[in-house]
Amino acid sequence: MPPVEHRPQRIVVVGGGITGLAAAWHVRRLAAEGGRAVDIVVLEAGDRVGGKVHTVRRDGWVIEAAPDSFLTTKPWARDLALALGLGDRLIAQRPGGRQVFVRHDGALVPLPAGFRLAAPTDLGAFLRTPLVSWPGKLRALFDLVRPARREEGDRRGDRRGDESMADFVRRRMGREVLERLAAPLMAGIHVGDPERLSIEATFPQLADLERRHGSLIRGLRRSATDRRRDGAGAAATFTSLSGGVGDLVDALAADLGGIVRTRSVVARIARDGRSDAAHDDDFTYTVALADGSTVGADAVIVTTPGPATARLIVDAAPEAARIAGAVRHVSSATVSLGYRRDDVAHPLDGLGIIAPRGEGVRWLACSWSSSKWEGRAPDGHVLVRLFYGGDGREAEAERDEETLIAWAKEDAETVLGATGAPVIAHAFRWVKGNPQYDVGHEARVKAAAAACPAALVLAGATWRGVGVPDCVRQALDAAETALGAIHPRSGHQSSRQSI
Ligand SMILES: Cc1cc2nc3c(=O)[nH]c(=O)nc-3n(C[C@H](O)[C@H](O)[C@H](O)COP(=O)(O)OP(=O)(O)OC[C@H]3O[C@@H](n4cnc5c(N)ncnc54)[C@H](O)[C@@H]3O)c2cc1C
Repeated sequence: MPPVEHRPQRIVVVGGGITGLAAAWHVRRLAAEGGRAVDIVVLEAGDRVGGKVHTVRRDGWVIEAAPDSFLTTKPWARDLALALGLGDRLIAQRPGGRQVFVRHDGALVPLPAGFRLAAPTDLGAFLRTPLVSWPGKLRALFDLVRPARREEGDRRGDRRGDESMADFVRRRMGREVLERLAAPLMAGIHVGDPERLSIEATFPQLADLERRHGSLIRGLRRSATDRRRDGAGAAATFTSLSGGVGDLVDALAADLGGIVRTRSVVARIARDGRSDAAHDDDFTYTVALADGSTVGADAVIVTTPGPATARLIVDAAPEAARIAGAVRHVSSATVSLGYRRDDVAHPLDGLGIIAPRGEGVRWLACSWSSSKWEGRAPDGHVLVRLFYGGDGREAEAERDEETLIAWAKEDAETVLGATGAPVIAHAFRWVKGNPQYDVGHEARVKAAAAACPAALVLAGATWRGVGVPDCVRQALDAAETALGAIHPRSGHQSSRQSI
């Protein structure tokens, strides 16, 4: 009798954003390293891959729709870029002019040197800043003597209790530092409300500094000293690519080739063991597409945003679907405007401006893209980017693109002294595109993972980190978990439970 031929096992990745593409790439790499034949399919609803990672390149302009860079200190995105042969395209922020400005009573005031997210590392610069009153500064210095929070978790013998970003910063640094500096810097990254965001899920390193050093100021100063000692002090905080962050998804898509199928809207994932039309074998999952076709899978990695994930997995994992649907997502928008240099009065000598909510302006932040990064605008031109929307201001981000561009022009006129018509203008709306890690998020993430059957893996910005490096790390974890689930003896089980 001829030997029975087994089909290769198949992993389907739903969603072709950075998480989905990186997950497919890691599955293929790990399978090859383990000498396993695995069939991989990425199903992406849109007609392009990358999701929120999207760079428009036109006439010498490099315009980012959402991320313009990623954190240098989290290695996963940079490592992936290096593995894809993009080493010579990695760029650091331009060396001069890393100053951030804060809008304060209508004026632009430099963020004090050494201020890190929620606390100063350079006390002299902090004491000199007009951004915080003297009582506000004294209250902030109280952080040096105030004991660390006694954690509920200690008494109960389980994990520490979570608290909101606002409660955490108010408790350590006082109300003024929260409202004028920490909220726009920290909550701004998530376009969120600091009263609702979880400190443990958004900035666990700060909660950790309190635990280890009993003070944010001491902890951040110690970290800065350690970084200087390790020679990392001079490294720029953010990294990008010469053709924009889109270089990363372009390289992934080119490398994955026919593995990625665009215009493939997934409607439902069922755990029913039905056969795939093209095979006699049974698959554990049936991935049903909106066009009526199906794809069989031994494992599925779902990387879609929470609301979509909730609909897709409602049959296969109802409790995880309920949790995915309960992660709030809010809307934001970015507008990029390119001007002739001579048409903008402001020197744009820094990274940009953040606007605390109390300032009463429509925009949240204004980033000076061509000052931050080389090669973003043609010679003699500048590129700036304004942010709108966020938690509590979503209607603004959901306005039509013409309105957003008109607002951005007005705002650039007022804040930067821009005159005349911009040479180029692009608005990108991210409706319900920003997951909010509300207090208790980490516990919900664990519960969702526990509620998923074997070989159904959730990953992506909804879960364990919104930044591009965190998405790539989740992709690696998901690849290990999925391979471990279909090849239990292959040694691919992740030590961490995915998500
Ligand atoms: C305005 C903005 C600025 C940002 N700036 C930064 C930054 O500077 N640095 C940084 O590190 N991060 C930044 N981020 C965060 C980061 O870009 C995202 O968190 C990350 O790109 C999310 O990747 P993802 O793959 O998890 O999800 P997504 O990019 O949302 O990808 C999900 C994919 O799933 C697809 N999909 C949805 N439904 C279906 C379906 N039914 N069937 C098939 N496919 C489906 C979508 O089309 C999409 O392609 C920013 C985000 C925004 C919105």
